[in-house]
Amino acid sequence: MTKPVVLILLGPPGAGKGTQARMLEEDFGLVQLSTGDLLRAAVAAGTEAGKQAKAVMEAGQLVSDDIVLAILKDRMAQPDVARGIILDGFPRTDGQAASLDGLLQASGQKVNAAISLEVDDEAMVGRVSGRFTCADCGEGYHDEFKRPAKAGTCDKCGGTAFKRRADDNAETVRERLKAYHAQTAPLIAYYEGKGVLERVDAMGAIADIRQALGALVRGVTA
Ligand code: AMP
Repeated sequence: MTKPVVLILLGPPGAGKGTQARMLEEDFGLVQLSTGDLLRAAVAAGTEAGKQAKAVMEAGQLVSDDIVLAILKDRMAQPDVARGIILDGFPRTDGQAASLDGLLQASGQKVNAAISLEVDDEAMVGRVSGRFTCADCGEGYHDEFKRPAKAGTCDKCGGTAFKRRADDNAETVRERLKAYHAQTAPLIAYYEGKGVLERVDAMGAIADIRQALGALVRGVTA
C-alpha cells in the first residue's frame, strides 16, 4: 500500500490556506487538518486547552507548542488521516516543524510537499476582515469577493446561519501577520533545505490557484 501523502500549506492569514485545503480534500480525498479549527473547537467546548488558548488567539499571537502538539497528535490518531493529510496552519514554529518530523518519522512517513502560498501582505488585511463562513458546512465567503448567490443562504448546503471569527478584525490580523513573519515564514527556508518546498502565486482567482495546486499535488502523489 502506498504511504499517505503529507502536504503542508504555508502562508500568512488570508492567503487562502483553509479555502484551498477544503478544495484539495474534495479533489484528492485527503483530510484537512487545521490547528486553528481544532483550537477554536477546544475554545468552544471549554476544554482546559481551549481556556488557555482563548486569550492568546484573540490577541493574534501563537498558542504554545505544547497545547498545539497535543491537539494535533489526538487528531492524527484518528483513522481517517490514513488517506493523507493537508496541514493547514501547522507547523508555525521551528519547534512544531521538528516535532512534526519526529511524529512522521515514527510512522515511516515524511512531508511530501510544503506549499508556500505567495501573497502581498497589504491585501491580506482586507481579505481577512471581510470573511465569514457557513455555520453548518464551513463554506467560506467574503463581503466583497465571494458573497452567497442568494443573500443569507449558503450556496453549498442551503444553511442560513453564518459566523465570523473573533480574530478576523483589522487590528488582530496585523498582529497575526507579525507573528507569521517572525515565527512561521522562516519555515519556508527550512522546507526549501529539505527539497520539498513549492511556491504558488496565491494572489489570483480561487479557481486558478486550485488548478495550480492540483497540478502540483498530482505531481507529488504520482
Ligand atoms: P488560523 O485558523 O490558522 O488562522 O489560526 C487562528 C489562531 O489559532 C492563530 O492566530 C493562533 O493563535 C492559533 N493557532 C493556530 N494554529 C497554530 C499553531 N500551529 N501554533 C500556534 N498557534 C496556532
